[in-house]
Amino acid sequence: MEILLAREMGFCFGVRRAVEMMEEAVQEQGEMVSLGSVVHNPQVVAQLKEQGLDVIASPSEVSDRPVAITAHGVSESVVRELEQRGVPVVDTTCPIVTRSQQWAKRLADEGFAVIVFGDPNHKEVRGVLGWAQGRAIAIPSVEELDGLPEDLPSRVGVLSQTTETEAHFAEFVRQLLERRMDEISELRVINTLCNATTSQQAAAQELAHRVDLMIVIGGRESANTRHLAEVAREEGCETYHVESAGEIRPEWLAGRERVGVSAGASTPDAAVDAVVARLRELAPDGAAKGGEARVAERAGREVE
Ligand code: SF4
Repeated sequence: MEILLAREMGFCFGVRRAVEMMEEAVQEQGEMVSLGSVVHNPQVVAQLKEQGLDVIASPSEVSDRPVAITAHGVSESVVRELEQRGVPVVDTTCPIVTRSQQWAKRLADEGFAVIVFGDPNHKEVRGVLGWAQGRAIAIPSVEELDGLPEDLPSRVGVLSQTTETEAHFAEFVRQLLERRMDEISELRVINTLCNATTSQQAAAQELAHRVDLMIVIGGRESANTRHLAEVAREEGCETYHVESAGEIRPEWLAGRERVGVSAGASTPDAAVDAVVARLRELAPDGAAKGGEARVAERAGREVE
């Protein structure tokens, strides 16, 4: 059995940047808190906790310790509240998310109704909605376009959650137009998809064609990891989403010739290495191959 690693996967620059900024801040300023988990990854959160970074759920829990805003960003009202309370803030919002927030604000300022294609309960989406002065709503799927208000303003701006797939976003916009063309006088579509995510999705898609099983590693709550698994399944490849190596069951590997591995943008290299080690253990002939060897190289190991 061969083990093939996706040519792009794992920590994206936004998450890497956020984690590094927080590690530096803890070293310089001592114990601090982050508003929500840094990333949707329990191992990374636990490591940062050991270094002195606690997680709090809401700004009401802020005391005198410095506060970190995570890569997913927060709404404008939270930023203002932290300013008013005068606590030191380390803002690690990913620049790609900041761009999305700025578009939401700008479109709302210009009188557009803003539709965000994404999960209304996801932290990034909640933050983006909060920059549009109450003029934005999130719609998670094409099917839920039926839930759009009847009295939609005639000028509509559409953004996407950064981790959505290109194909799903394009289909969403097409269906929106098809259903509400009569009422819309102006439609402005802003491509707020993240390049890091779309390249990882393309790599997972490509790999899914070459293997007979895909393992996608990342937190259960991680939207981009879930989308990677979706992309692989949409290619017709049997795919499992796991958080850690221990979840891999030997029976998944029975009769497989090639197993592909990909990982979400919030998945650390150590989690990928652990999965590769587990696959090797279950299939002793397995060897990580190809330009796909990036992760193994980072870990300083020889790759066959
Ligand atoms: S997935 Fe993209 S948008 Fe999200 S943190 Fe990473 S680089 Fe930023």
